[in-house]
Amino acid sequence: MRVQDALALIDSTVRSLGGRIAYRHIEESTDPPRGPSPREAGLPDALARSLEELGIKSLYLHQYRALEAFRAGGNLVIVSGTGTGKTEAFLIPIAEALIREGSTPPRPYALILYPTKALARDQLYRIKIFLEGALGYRVEVLDGDTPQSKREEIYIDPPHILISNPDMLHYGMAFSEKFRDLVSRVRVVVLDEMHVYGGVFGAHVRWILYRLRRLAGGRRIRFIGAGATIGNPSELAAQLFGESAKVVEGPRRRRGRAIHLLVEQGRASRWTLAAAIIASLARQGLKVVGFADSQQMAELIARIARRSFGVQVLVHRAGLLPGERRRIEEGLRSGDVKAVVATSTLELGIDIGDLDAVIMSKLPRSFSSYLQRAGRAGRRGRPGLVATILGDDPIESYFLARPREFFSQEPDPAYIEPSNIEVARVHAAALMLQEGLLDPEGLPDPMQEALEELAREGAARLVERRYYPDWRRVRGIVENSSIRSSGPMVRIYDISRDRRGVLIGYRELPQALYDLYPGAIYYHGGRGMVSVRLDVNALRADVRPLGGDVGFYTKPFYTVDVVALKPLKSRYAGPVRVIYAELILKVIVEGYTVREEYSGTLINEVRYQTPLEWRYRTLGIMLKYPDPGFEKLTDAISAYHALEHVLISASKPVVGASDTDLGGISYPTGHIVIYDSAPGGHGASKLVFERLEKVHEVARRILSQCTCEDGCPRCVFSPYCGSGNRFLSRRGALKVLIAVEKGIKVEPSKPRGRPLA
Ligand SMILES: [Zn+2]
Ligand SMILES: [Zn+2]
Repeated sequence: MRVQDALALIDSTVRSLGGRIAYRHIEESTDPPRGPSPREAGLPDALARSLEELGIKSLYLHQYRALEAFRAGGNLVIVSGTGTGKTEAFLIPIAEALIREGSTPPRPYALILYPTKALARDQLYRIKIFLEGALGYRVEVLDGDTPQSKREEIYIDPPHILISNPDMLHYGMAFSEKFRDLVSRVRVVVLDEMHVYGGVFGAHVRWILYRLRRLAGGRRIRFIGAGATIGNPSELAAQLFGESAKVVEGPRRRRGRAIHLLVEQGRASRWTLAAAIIASLARQGLKVVGFADSQQMAELIARIARRSFGVQVLVHRAGLLPGERRRIEEGLRSGDVKAVVATSTLELGIDIGDLDAVIMSKLPRSFSSYLQRAGRAGRRGRPGLVATILGDDPIESYFLARPREFFSQEPDPAYIEPSNIEVARVHAAALMLQEGLLDPEGLPDPMQEALEELAREGAARLVERRYYPDWRRVRGIVENSSIRSSGPMVRIYDISRDRRGVLIGYRELPQALYDLYPGAIYYHGGRGMVSVRLDVNALRADVRPLGGDVGFYTKPFYTVDVVALKPLKSRYAGPVRVIYAELILKVIVEGYTVREEYSGTLINEVRYQTPLEWRYRTLGIMLKYPDPGFEKLTDAISAYHALEHVLISASKPVVGASDTDLGGISYPTGHIVIYDSAPGGHGASKLVFERLEKVHEVARRILSQCTCEDGCPRCVFSPYCGSGNRFLSRRGALKVLIAVEKGIKVEPSKPRGRPLA
């Protein structure tokens, strides 16, 4: 099918459901500027020859700059779009350095880390061709799937280049003497796809690299970061490497043309519209991946595609067992699978072959994420199609009114909160396994704090200024840790056969509270299930499959309250004093509503006799907003509640946060809390703290641009509201922000009254 025909097909599908293509953006292909030839670049003979054999007559300019920067010593970050020779940009300097080491270079000389096993295996071939083929260096993967015999082989006779992932490095350094010995010799560490190392994952990786630096002792490790979409490369590098790095920029955009469409949702839901577009393209034999921002929404799109449009669409998401995901990836690669809906799991560069089209059912959490997803569309010699559905959502309406602003955005910054104690605690335990007794003197502050906490828990003992581990407990802490999250994982069991149940997946807390409360409808691999029990202490959820099409969905009623607050810093944004603080939160799930899937009609409302409760520590901001002169208490409640919602919406483009990264609480007294939803904090609320003026500006525009009576999904409603979007006033929220602009004074007080989430 020709591109023009595919475009016409999308157009007619969208129109048949009452929507329209609101904006079309053509991305022209950019060929990266060329630099010198391998010989002119002064590369050693063998390397220059092997590059020529691979058909590389000249280096790209950014590859040459990366080479120069590496030669000058120090650390390096390469920012360059998909398909612009980013991998070679770090392999060339490493190969040159290896050659200069002579005939017996230290092994392993370089450690290349990919964020996932799948990605590492994917890149292996390319790296082997480059380094093994002509140059004779050995390249091996060592990860969780490597059999023991192969590991032993690697320990005894290490390769020149070791490819792995941060999880392996984390567990390996904690639990294996031989592994420690192996990686302690590494001279260069590469972090490819560096943009993913933000948030909680980034905070873990920062500590993992810190532990690696300690293993190396006095010997210096040099770091190279590489990524396509990093908004703040130099800052992120400093956070991850613990040292500064020189930034080399290549072309930011991908190679190859693309046609981007912004689709305005009509009368059908965005999920139906996405399913319709995916189904119509797949029916024509095109390969298409749809993206959804939550696991349950991905399941929903697949179900609608099958039921309403008769097209089989598979679901690729976290929380499925790994084998299931691998089968889908292989199917896409071989072409047996034509249509898949994924969460951000397929956003990274896992090889799924060329795609004809990418359909986003919702604006992704950040512009970087948009670029990553869009970058997957396109085949050799033909433009990729990227369609994004914009509908009833504050940020989507914002960009629908300003499409040019959308496409001229810069990639978002990746943020890390180094003081996350939940994260530091895992690595304090791991460092004890790695080194034995620990002298806290000279350790970074969060690590010292984490050790104090381990001592309070009884996992360590402080004797004469040294921490002695309780081996069993510290092992337990590291074994049960996941560097992908900071919250404890709930195991999900299907108990339809027997009471012991069959493990079908995982969900981390606190998200498990909002997805798996008793009575919740939960979709898994396209199948509707009902949660019958959630035990947050035993970290277990029991579910039962439901027969046939379920036809309805559930949403929880919940509140979040601040149990304790420890201020860390504060500042003024106009008349508003904002405090950045450590918080202890109490989440209470009180019941849920049941609604019909398509019409949204309320079927039932359930209130638990004993609500579900869970407490956790995180980071967040607290502010008190002025009172513009509300007459009734409900006016105040509705205004501050709406303001809380819109502040979270406005934060998304300003700090690059996802829908569920930030949570909020409003109080009738004008106090608003915005917190990191991950236990321990991931840095998003700290960026809100720093960029509050900008957040106010975007919030103000969302509130004043909407033409609704007094609140609607385009301005102040939130799908994550704990009270079903009751008590919300757009006009009231706008009055408060105008009072902030006027500088109306805020009287200090403590938050009082029933909190609304
Ligand atoms: Zn509105
Ligand atoms: Zn709410």
